[in-house]
Amino acid sequence: MSQLPRILLSDTAAVGDDGWLRIGGCSIRDLAAEFGTPLFVYDEQHIRNRCREAVAAFGPQRAVYASKAFLCKAMARLAYEEEMRLDVATGGELHTVLAAGVPASACVMHGNNKSVAELRTAITEQVCHIVVDSFDELDRIDVLNAEGVGPVPDVLLRITPGVHAHTHEFIATGQNDSKFGFNLANGDAIRAVDRARNSPSVNLVGLHCHIGSNVFAASSFGKAAEVMANFAAPLGLPELVLGGGLGVAYVAGEEAPTLTQWGHVLRDACQSLGVTARVSVEPGRSIVAAAALTVYTLGTIKHVPDVRTYFSVDGGMSDNPRPVLYGSGYESFLPRAPFADRTRHGRLVGKHCESGDVLLFDAKLPADARVGDLLATPVTGAYGRSMGSNYNAITRPPVVFVGDGDARLVIRRETFDDLLATDIG
Ligand SMILES: *Cc1c(COP(=O)(O)O)cnc(C)c1O
Repeated sequence: MSQLPRILLSDTAAVGDDGWLRIGGCSIRDLAAEFGTPLFVYDEQHIRNRCREAVAAFGPQRAVYASKAFLCKAMARLAYEEEMRLDVATGGELHTVLAAGVPASACVMHGNNKSVAELRTAITEQVCHIVVDSFDELDRIDVLNAEGVGPVPDVLLRITPGVHAHTHEFIATGQNDSKFGFNLANGDAIRAVDRARNSPSVNLVGLHCHIGSNVFAASSFGKAAEVMANFAAPLGLPELVLGGGLGVAYVAGEEAPTLTQWGHVLRDACQSLGVTARVSVEPGRSIVAAAALTVYTLGTIKHVPDVRTYFSVDGGMSDNPRPVLYGSGYESFLPRAPFADRTRHGRLVGKHCESGDVLLFDAKLPADARVGDLLATPVTGAYGRSMGSNYNAITRPPVVFVGDGDARLVIRRETFDDLLATDIG
């Protein structure tokens, strides 16, 4: 049997009397009829459950939602309501969060190459912390301070602990050969601490590290905590941020630690290392990935004898670039029969004009999958829509939040006019 594993669906997923998948009390069939496809369906209760789990594990304001995983005004408000802070890494992310009505005091400003304008905004809006990434950034803050831009910001220093997280090379960030942060190994970290402590333009309140994304090994987090705790101990700073990066299961057979288990690993590590600083984390993927699925319509099916079958859908690398970027795996199923045996193999591809436009390299579908069927890929809530594009002048899909039988459109589908909105030629 090759059924879709239930754990890849969100918390409120259920099968209706008619056999169709329901999320948040809404049938996928009805959602597709109302909003069209492709469509991102987010289970609002699932997101809240993960936020609450993170806050229970680390404390209110000690879990910072990494907004780059998925951001819109509704998501920013939800995370804030659930007592999380928000990690933003660009002026645009900060603008979105502020537009949602979330106060700057709940925002943490990241970025390895913040512009002067981004730093100016972060300072004058008075974000909670600026996570300083380089000596050049300290120079820029000095210049702003000399110009009278204030108040003096509370800052953390991003430290590169030299821990190699076992994940894809593009999303591993804690190793010495990294564009991020002050390297511990070559002395940059301690030089940055000395400079920040003696600088009138920043108020150093703590240290930060983030070893990478989609990390499954709890031991990698323990190792980073140990390196950071040892470095931080003699400094006596009040804040220690251990980053995000908790992995999630995308395909059958994968199993990731829960937010609660991650909390235990980090708490135990910090306790045994005698950490007295307040410890925070920055989960992104583990909050939203499994909360959403993407609904497509199955179009052309092409069988190449002795080679493979290609199943084409009405989206592709523009709504989910992760398979192309990282070779990431996903599952597929038909919402009309979510747990049907999937005996037919093929390659699930999009509608973009290149052969690299693959969503699933080895998709499994029920034998009776046919043109016109709705098809869904679960666990697309993180780094899908946020990394999406308008390649081929495709209009990006809408996002609907579902819960208690209601469907709330939070991002509408783009129109052809939206595509031309910035084209003034
Ligand atoms: C991306 C990122 C995160 C979140 O990573 P996830 O793998 O989504 O949990 C947290 N902190 C920083 C600094 C990041 O760049």
